[in-house]
Amino acid sequence: MQVINPANGAIVTEILSDNAEQVREKIEKLRKGQPAWFELSVEERLAILLKFGKLVEANLDELAVILTQETGKPLQQSINEIRGANNRLVHLEANALKWLASEDMVTEGATKERIAYEPLGVVANISAWNFPYNVGYNVFLYALVAGNSVIYKPSEFASLTGMKFRELLWRAGVPENVFECIFGTGEVGQLLLEADLDGYFFTGSYNTGKYIATQVAPKLVPVQLELGGKDPLYIMDDVFDVKQAAINAAEGAFYNNGQSCCAVERIYVHESVYDEFVNYFVEEVKSYKVGDPMNKTTFIGPLTRQPQVGILEEQVQDALLKGAELKCGGYSLDREGYYFAPTVLSAVNHQMEVMKEESFGPIIGIQKVANDEEALSLMKDTTYGLTAAVFSANKGRALDLLDQLSVGTVYWNCCDRVSPNVPWSGRKNSGLGSTLSYQGIRAFVQPKAYHLRD
Ligand code: NDP
Repeated sequence: MQVINPANGAIVTEILSDNAEQVREKIEKLRKGQPAWFELSVEERLAILLKFGKLVEANLDELAVILTQETGKPLQQSINEIRGANNRLVHLEANALKWLASEDMVTEGATKERIAYEPLGVVANISAWNFPYNVGYNVFLYALVAGNSVIYKPSEFASLTGMKFRELLWRAGVPENVFECIFGTGEVGQLLLEADLDGYFFTGSYNTGKYIATQVAPKLVPVQLELGGKDPLYIMDDVFDVKQAAINAAEGAFYNNGQSCCAVERIYVHESVYDEFVNYFVEEVKSYKVGDPMNKTTFIGPLTRQPQVGILEEQVQDALLKGAELKCGGYSLDREGYYFAPTVLSAVNHQMEVMKEESFGPIIGIQKVANDEEALSLMKDTTYGLTAAVFSANKGRALDLLDQLSVGTVYWNCCDRVSPNVPWSGRKNSGLGSTLSYQGIRAFVQPKAYHLRD
């Protein structure tokens, strides 16, 4: 399989895809290794994973270059992601012991009752390419600390990063029969669905997630899905500082070239601040440095996948045909690589694909609304339910609106952020189950109830 650099289309390297026999052997190996891993204490497993964190830190520069080469993520954003993902280890260090410990529920009387938390066994981690450290850590670190063994399928667009995870986990002391990777396209991922595994933890698109959930349903094992979104942001008329709100909203929409599951994907602005907001927003977007992702000052690099360029072109054409106004961008760049100019469309509406379908690129639609009721009804008009944001000086008014939305995460005066302290979950077509927080620790164990009579 070729690893292509999206900045210039060059072949970075070639790697071998796994075949069915290799996948079977790897799973068998993990099945054998898991019981001994679980026999270690949580503290011992945690100490090994913390060592992995130190190795990642020590190799930061090399790892960031690899991530940038295979995904096109601007180098500074690769560094930010790798550094930032370490907060998962900080969270586990502070919380894993507490949430994985057995609990004595009844300690008096003839029959004592207790809950113990046992690992699921061998679990699959099928992952996405856009933030491989964040979304990978959310699953494999939490699964490992709970005593599971893990078969990790990186996206074909983040295979080299997956290889590095394996190398550094092994070097840190995770046994080779406790963490393994399989490499290849979705067809290789498909082999995992046919295997006898104890849990499926998927990060990726709605279509693939739904397919995976359907395929593995008869196994009756846990399935978690972290899927896409069409996340709305609403600027109320009383916003503190229109310029600052525009800068924050633009960053939420364009960071990582808009290729974030929780990127701001559609913006609604109260009519009284609409023109001012759009002006500041466009000014900010025009200031973004577009170019070679290896340059640390680049903010917008190439898209990771070539076909996405065509999807964005179609969204622009569709919006313009239906009456949108193009404020900037709207075209692919005439240079090597998969570049699309940062694009802002105003005067949009919900007849347009750009306001309905996940764009996953550097493009945003801004729609004018007359009041909170109209904003709420538009924010609700989606099959997704990942995040939603409101910018307002009035916390009560913002929360009144956010409380009415069926989404996993809400933001007041901020957006596009993930924290290990609170659950990360999508509703509706954005997913099933939670990672992070204590819920994300408990996601990788199954309870056993003890009734103990002396
Ligand atoms: P895809 O759904 O295309 O792929 C996700 C993973 O599934 C990849 O490893 C892919 O392999 C694999 N895969 C594809 N087909 C199969 C199959 N039949 N059986 C098993 N595995 C398969 O998603 P992307 O990688 O393109 O990720 C982008 C999407 O992920 C966006 O929709 C984004 O919003 C969402 N996402 C959600 C997050 C969240 O936390 N909610 C976080 C990050 C991203 P391969 O790549 O080799 O085809």
